[in-house]
Amino acid sequence: MSVFDHHEFDRHESIQYVSDDTTGLRAIIAIHSTALGPGAGGCRRWQYANEHAALTDALRLSRGMTYKNAIAGLRLGGGKAVILADEAAPKSSELFQAFGRAVEMLNGSYITAEDVGVTMEDMRHVREATAFVSGLPKSGDAAGGDPSPLTAEGVFLGIEAAVRVRLGKDSLAGIRVAVQGVGHVGLQLCKLLHSAGAELTVADVNRAHLRAASESVPVTVVPPTELLYSDVDVLAPCALGNILTSVTIPKLKAKVVAGGANNQLATDADGARLAEREILYAPDYVINAGGIISIAHEYFGNASDAEVHGDIAAIPRRLETIFAEAEATGQPTNLIADEMARKIVAEAAGPAADKPQA
Ligand code: NAD
Repeated sequence: MSVFDHHEFDRHESIQYVSDDTTGLRAIIAIHSTALGPGAGGCRRWQYANEHAALTDALRLSRGMTYKNAIAGLRLGGGKAVILADEAAPKSSELFQAFGRAVEMLNGSYITAEDVGVTMEDMRHVREATAFVSGLPKSGDAAGGDPSPLTAEGVFLGIEAAVRVRLGKDSLAGIRVAVQGVGHVGLQLCKLLHSAGAELTVADVNRAHLRAASESVPVTVVPPTELLYSDVDVLAPCALGNILTSVTIPKLKAKVVAGGANNQLATDADGARLAEREILYAPDYVINAGGIISIAHEYFGNASDAEVHGDIAAIPRRLETIFAEAEATGQPTNLIADEMARKIVAEAAGPAADKPQA
């Protein structure tokens, strides 16, 4: 199938296929929009079923970054990179240097950072080949460092807002939350939720991560196949995407879905499915913007930690605006957020830009 005809193409500005013989690197860098600034979004390393699945992920994630950066008020467009994990191309400093060279060739139209399967240490190797990278070790009290705790902070504040709106509770004390995936974001989120008095149910496919979570905070562990259907107030997806579907949504017991994972909805229609069941959905790219807020400030070199926390504190207010509009119009929250984001991008792009293809 032609890339231009791909169902997730959505008029991407550029899609680069990258390969490096020495390290075996194979990657796709998708830049959805540079209307607001350079396309920015993390680099994911994942074992995809095939190249088509990797492309689909890159396209969906990079469009999500356009929307995320627009709604967060950042001077950044949307982009994303995926590295196809492969036994023939194990993680190495050379592999990330090769990836950095590919980013460098884009001459600043894409800024990379860490995502699933990629660490701050890996980004240090990317930095050896390009300056178009963020999410590097921090120095002093300037913005920077691992974005995950800041993503978790925004998600935590967003859960508080959603619980206020949907459950009418001003505190998370006694609120039951199921966290899917206790990796970088999920574990930090568990710590914040526990401090606020929430009761935690967790699952992860990685035993080491599960052990680390169990040793950090009191949690009830359930099998990954059961987590989504836990009898809880809030479901916080913090693993991978495409988990809210026509199959899973009818079986959810939570009244709120609010978590850090990207692309939680399998399709736009799943937002309506949640709304029909009166499950309040916090659009993923609105609630999980804390990390990119930090990455943006680090990249532009213009802010302190305190300013990053201040900007993250705006996330619950944005969600409350979306929730209020959903209540007033009966529209699903995901569509309201998409519309808000498209409007911001279209205004920046000027008259030639209209709505993306359906
Ligand atoms: P991570 O790889 O550190 O953690 C993901 C965890 O989910 C891992 O422990 C993994 O084993 C687990 N997992 C995978 N499949 C699972 C399943 N079926 N059931 C239960 N657990 C499963 O990644 P992360 O950085 O914590 O990111 C988590 C999600 O948040 C991703 O979707 C990512 O794109 C999104 N996100 C992350 C950031 C960030 O700052 N790290 C920012 C925005 C969005």
